Amino acid sequence: MKTDILIIGAGIAGITLARRMAEEKNLKVLLVERRKHIGGYCFDYRDPNGILVHRYGPHIFRTDSEQVYNFLSRFTDWYDYQHKVLANVEGKLYPMPINLDTVNGYLGTNYTSENVAEYFEKVKTFPKEINNVKDAVESQIGPVFYKAFFENYTKKQWGEAPENLPADIIARIPIRANRDDRYFTAKYQAIPAEGYTAMMQRMLDHKNIRVLLNTDYKEIQNEIECSKIFYSGSIDEFYDYRFGRLPYRCVSFKFEELGVEEYQPVAVVNYPNNYGYTRITEFKHFGKGKTEHTVIAKEYSSDCGEPSYPIPVKDNLKLYRKYEGIKQENVIFIGRLGRYRYYSMDQIIEELLSIAL
Ligand code: UDP
Repeated sequence: MKTDILIIGAGIAGITLARRMAEEKNLKVLLVERRKHIGGYCFDYRDPNGILVHRYGPHIFRTDSEQVYNFLSRFTDWYDYQHKVLANVEGKLYPMPINLDTVNGYLGTNYTSENVAEYFEKVKTFPKEINNVKDAVESQIGPVFYKAFFENYTKKQWGEAPENLPADIIARIPIRANRDDRYFTAKYQAIPAEGYTAMMQRMLDHKNIRVLLNTDYKEIQNEIECSKIFYSGSIDEFYDYRFGRLPYRCVSFKFEELGVEEYQPVAVVNYPNNYGYTRITEFKHFGKGKTEHTVIAKEYSSDCGEPSYPIPVKDNLKLYRKYEGIKQENVIFIGRLGRYRYYSMDQIIEELLSIAL
């Protein structure tokens, strides 16, 4: 089989690159995907009631980059959406990220946006350096909120003590002195109106792109002739784990269809301290339309299953660098698993839109 470019993995990284190569360079692209569907972890589908279900957990597109937004807008209309998250602490729901209402609700106080900083000043800690999740949170809002909202969630999610995890894991979660309860504040925030899968299907709709699903690249690699390979799977797997396995956090979902119109007031409720799951997502919040049923997913995090989150602790990054350092002509690693980075969707797209082809 002959092609100009071989891309392994039909997630948002591989698909973005496939489109650019096909369109801007007029190159023939073969995209090989092990799963039976395109889209990687962004894959979604409509359930029998018409609800768009994110098969691999909540995906909220947001970006400050006009270039990224304009690129995707060629392939989709948008459902205007502002993501809201609540945290269930001791049975009560509080806005997450922590804002004025979280503080007053949890403490039973009446701070205002003018004077809540006095509380922050009183409780915040002063570590010498801020280089882990615990210090990053406590240096803003002290140990009480850290313990109730962050410590156990982070342990559950990452399987690591927050002291061992770099602060940038929670960089996206501010502490607010006002009542803004949006999870993200990027310039553009929206959900593809007909879903991520439909958007990506359109990205692939080009005469130069061919997609092979249900195909493990390793089984066909000897039959393919090409000048360049882009690989978006796990880098350690590509090299047959020759230096050992890179640790990943894996998430799994327990889906439930319920005969009620609404299960929870917002799309995502986090459960930092109780239950085995980290959060519950109710998918109908990601689109419009009324249904008498709803679909929820309880999300569990563990160290076995399909890799989804690279765990950016020192030893793991050292091992990743060993893999990254292998001289391998004509193979370029992309995406969250290929680069072993906790990328969001827009970061992946932005990077791939800016590389020279
Ligand atoms: N986090 C937390 N409590 C929460 C929400 C988030 O401690 O209620 C921390 C946790 O370490 C988590 C990180 O912030 O892994 C990023 O969370 P987010 O839900 O934004 O990330 P996602 O899992 O959706 O990539």
